[in-house]
Amino acid sequence: MLRTHTCGELRRKDVRRKVVLAGWVHGLRVLGKKAFIDLRDRYGITQLVLDEKFRELYEGLTRESVIVVSGRVVKRKEPNPKLDTGDIEVVVENLAIVSKAEPLPFELFNPDVESTEETRLKYRYLDLRRPEMHRMLEFRFRASMVLRNYLSMLGFVEVETPYLSKPTPEGARDFLVPSRTFRGRFWALPQSPQQYKQLLMVSGLDRYFQLARCFRDEDLRKDRQYEFTQLDIEMSFAGEEDVMKVAEGAVAVLYAQLLGIKLKRPFPRLSWRDAMDRYGSDKPDLRFGLELEDMDAAGDIRIFREIVKGGGVVKGIRAPLLEKPLVKRLEELARSEGFPGLAWASFGEATKGPIASALPDELRLKEGTLLLLGGEWQKVVETLGKIRLEMARALGLQKGLSITWITDFPLFEVTEEGSFQPAHHPFTAPKKGFEGQLFEELSREELLNIPARAYDLVINGVEIGGGSVRITDPALQERMFELLGISREEAREKFGMLLEAFRYGVPPHGGIAFGFDRLLQVMLGKQSLRDVIAFPKSKSGRALMEDAPSGADPEQLKELGLKA
Ligand code: ASP
Repeated sequence: MLRTHTCGELRRKDVRRKVVLAGWVHGLRVLGKKAFIDLRDRYGITQLVLDEKFRELYEGLTRESVIVVSGRVVKRKEPNPKLDTGDIEVVVENLAIVSKAEPLPFELFNPDVESTEETRLKYRYLDLRRPEMHRMLEFRFRASMVLRNYLSMLGFVEVETPYLSKPTPEGARDFLVPSRTFRGRFWALPQSPQQYKQLLMVSGLDRYFQLARCFRDEDLRKDRQYEFTQLDIEMSFAGEEDVMKVAEGAVAVLYAQLLGIKLKRPFPRLSWRDAMDRYGSDKPDLRFGLELEDMDAAGDIRIFREIVKGGGVVKGIRAPLLEKPLVKRLEELARSEGFPGLAWASFGEATKGPIASALPDELRLKEGTLLLLGGEWQKVVETLGKIRLEMARALGLQKGLSITWITDFPLFEVTEEGSFQPAHHPFTAPKKGFEGQLFEELSREELLNIPARAYDLVINGVEIGGGSVRITDPALQERMFELLGISREEAREKFGMLLEAFRYGVPPHGGIAFGFDRLLQVMLGKQSLRDVIAFPKSKSGRALMEDAPSGADPEQLKELGLKA
């Protein structure tokens, strides 16, 4: 070994010991005839003392150079309580500069000196030198160990599924990989291992999991990454209760073992309908109230009368007394969602607001601001949901921890173009008792009212995981494709293997997948997914360090039968 100890290891009891240390020059101070070096490695910092005879060496030394020293441990006259090794220092007897560092492209350790995220990502290997980053990588690794231990204890087996595959629908674009051997054909990188894990159930491996890499060519504006990791789970002879129990256990052991937080179980549940109606979101942040309420009494106000007559709703939020600039911002938000404005009234020392005088008595507040919106239910609740979040951000209400399941999702949703798409994915089963209905002639309304055997886990307003019990009846699966406007041929072409597999004896099964990065982000309270991934893509979707994506060699393209 090059070193006898790490830089975080030496204590009082080691005084007089002869040691060899190696690491990076974190700091260098020359005081009269002596020089002091803070030597850093992954484990900490140890102070080195050098005398005159090293002058030539240390004068040429730069920060972040790698050195190896041998010397003797001595007691410090003035201990440094900020360092674990603060009781001692090492008097250097030999110093070797192993690798001299050039001036760094950005300031690594001083948060007061600004550097752009682009620079940090370009030199990610330097940014990862920071102890905070080491802790993140260690946390991530420990999380994977805790999950693997927990699931293996329950009899789950981790199985790796292919990266080179066929498209699996999870609602994003695929990454295609051209095939050299089969010209003009393409592999797709999996958006999730969905079909494989279901096939493993057909194989009789009744408890599968995987820390699986998934690839989705998504819009990165909403803090997504092209590639991310899922904790993917599937179980046979299991219903939603079984899956949810395993999933709750997984989240609970993570919080307990990594953060020392005991989560109350079972986790609370909220139906999709209630979540939308009361919080205006299918991933509600329940760390604060500000619930959406029915405001039927407001239907008498002129601006709402027609809306109510036409079958619309009036809903509102009773908020604390809001300052004018915030109300203005919320009005702006309502407008950007297509509403003519936001009806509001403030009750404080004075009564203010465009609808204040028209409000019936029962809607007047002692103190506070009442916000009202009228229109079609879904549009109203979704917009109020956004307003609710904006208010919470402005008022600093997003504190603490809230976990909830969202259940009873609808099976279908309507796209902006008016076609149906699965709310989850096309393998999700309808609620028991609704299977038969799917084969009938259904109106749009009726279709949208069919509930799914699907569930999401939401922490602090972030969707952390989602899954469902699957369709296992080939006829029902084919009908599902039909309802989604996928032709027989297309279904055969895309999902042929699954449809065929289901003809040879398929157990009832269901599963769930957690966004592993997203979960870590929430657990660590990080701003972005990029803060929990070793080598993430930038906000604009580039690999700045590798400088990718990049062009390709014309020869290579020719081999693939492609033209750029
Ligand atoms: N494959 C699904 C997803 O990635 C999860 C599941 O249904 O198990 O969201």
